[in-house]
Amino acid sequence: LKKIDTQKIRKDFPILDQIVNDEPLVYLDNAATTQKPTQVLDVVRAYYEQDNANVHRGVHTLAERATADYEASRDKVRAFINAGSRKEVLFTRGTTTGLNWVARFAQESLKVGDEIVISIMEHHSNVIPWQQAAEKTGAVLKYVYLKDGILDMADLRKKITDKTKFVSITHVSNVLGVINPVKEIAQIAHEHGAIMVVDGAQSTPHMTIDVQDLDCDFFAFSGHKMAGPTGIGVLYGKEALLNKMSPVEFGGEMIDFVYEQTATWKELPWKFEAGTPNIAGSIGLGAAVDYLTEIGMDTIHAHEADLIAYIMPKLREIDGLTIYGPLDDSLRAGVISFNLGDLHPHDVATALDMEGVAVRAGHHCAQPLINYLDVPATARASFYIYNTYEDCDKLVSAIKLTKEFFSNGTL
Ligand code: PMP
Repeated sequence: LKKIDTQKIRKDFPILDQIVNDEPLVYLDNAATTQKPTQVLDVVRAYYEQDNANVHRGVHTLAERATADYEASRDKVRAFINAGSRKEVLFTRGTTTGLNWVARFAQESLKVGDEIVISIMEHHSNVIPWQQAAEKTGAVLKYVYLKDGILDMADLRKKITDKTKFVSITHVSNVLGVINPVKEIAQIAHEHGAIMVVDGAQSTPHMTIDVQDLDCDFFAFSGHKMAGPTGIGVLYGKEALLNKMSPVEFGGEMIDFVYEQTATWKELPWKFEAGTPNIAGSIGLGAAVDYLTEIGMDTIHAHEADLIAYIMPKLREIDGLTIYGPLDDSLRAGVISFNLGDLHPHDVATALDMEGVAVRAGHHCAQPLINYLDVPATARASFYIYNTYEDCDKLVSAIKLTKEFFSNGTL
């Protein structure tokens, strides 16, 4: 496996080369959103400068170019996640939209007493749509809990029964960092006739995704977490299911014929893409897919695993630092949530920012998990392709400085 040349990669991300609070920026908030390389920015700019037109409608040359680029991005995404067909690749606004669409689809078939199984580590976007579906149908929303910082598979096997109609689990937790065995979970779900949904927001940017190998029925992710633009994402769904699924939005682009009282829909994937889509975003996402593919997804995963293997022992040595998630580092993607003594994570994040280190603090849109962990919040550092051992060292030393700074207080 070839190694990442971080110095070369960092040249593609001019934003990283800046001083924050008199210190060189160390960007460790990649689980929230990643930076964009010039290769993506250039493609978006070139689209607006040279090809901008609405898609699918025009016969003029610019419209044809815009449509070709938009649809070429769909083909790139199809290959990137190894979907069987381009019909199974729907452009959305992001993971949140994709999960909402699936939960809306679930609402059409769920009945009183049916069950939905999710986990306690889900992002709000994989919680609230299911709460709504349960509330509107009388279905029951069940949670799988944790054991030793990871998903409790014994609990999962108990919770998934023949009453279960939908199972929706995150591939990688944005708080715990744990990589969940979604292929195995899909198998268990299918044994009980349930539909398997995967929240791929935190996995797709960081590892090879093969939706056919995972055998999930739906898989959602966001462009902005994988070096692409904001406002664009993808929902993958198996063709047979998408054919059964009603469009969520109605309007232009998604219709075949419209009569006074009725209308018919276009075929997949356009049935789901009402209105003028995020053309520049889709094209930018295509460029991000090209960029990541060129580096190699296995190489990216190995790079982040390497950073984790490097930093975890150093973090574990810091007295008073609590780290959440798996004890086994090989189960951890490039996400580390922590607390420093009794310090509020917002104070920790502010102190780290004074050292130029950008981390996130809060509930990370996972309040049920934060309550379950029985903490007010956590601080979170998360890595990507451009992060280095030096970044790790800076985080460790900044945490130690923060500890010293507050040491006459609670630590
Ligand atoms: N799921 C997970 C695990 C996430 O980390 C996020 C983003 N923080 C989302 C879903 C939602 O993604 P978006 O805000 O791009 O829709």
